[in-house]
Amino acid sequence: MTSEPRVLVVEDDPTIGDVLVGALSEQGYDVVSAPDGGTALAAADRQPVDLALLDLGLPDLDGNEVCRRLRDRCPEAIVIILTARAEEMDVVVGLEAGAADYLTKPVRLAELLARVRAHLRRGGIVGVTRRIEIGDLRIDTGSRRVRVAGHEIDLRAREFDLLERLAREPGVAVSRDRLMADVWDEHWFGSTKTLDVHVAAVRRRLAGRPGAQVPTITTLRGHGYRLDPPGPAGDHG
Ligand code: CA
Repeated sequence: MTSEPRVLVVEDDPTIGDVLVGALSEQGYDVVSAPDGGTALAAADRQPVDLALLDLGLPDLDGNEVCRRLRDRCPEAIVIILTARAEEMDVVVGLEAGAADYLTKPVRLAELLARVRAHLRRGGIVGVTRRIEIGDLRIDTGSRRVRVAGHEIDLRAREFDLLERLAREPGVAVSRDRLMADVWDEHWFGSTKTLDVHVAAVRRRLAGRPGAQVPTITTLRGHGYRLDPPGPAGDHG
């Protein structure tokens, strides 16, 4: 058995923490969460972590201090700082404390997952590669390749993220809010028209191979979208 990379999420804001834990768990990582620095260090003592997402503004300890102590405990751990403060000094101190990277809040989930994957790969930690197969559609989340009936199709980054998000739960209705949060930004207040534009683009690309058995993206009026596996029409009775 191979063990999945262990990711520690240190975040005192439960609304952000829950989103991060949910998204990382869906990717197949072994996720541990801590609402403060003390809990985070105790968790790292119990079992080493491969990567930590670390909020700088914690209720008990300074985030940079947590970074330093985490790296003392697990020298191999990759630390990515999450900062609401745009101040460059915090980032500089964080990087001096051993952080590998930083992201400024509000964090775009797709970007965060991409950075986590990249750092784990760079660190020689085997990432979780998931292959999703639905009919003639193959999605490889590790290499971010999509094939239809063996032919690679070219998707833009957001189109890939959108297709992967829907394909993770075939046949399940996914709300517009959920899609906007997972693919674009967790704090989305703008128009969601961009979602429809991207869905249309993904549909076009999937339809590029006539005769291939590809899933259909079904529009659910007033709710969102659902990816339906291919199959003879009307066989759901
Ligand atoms: Ca905080």
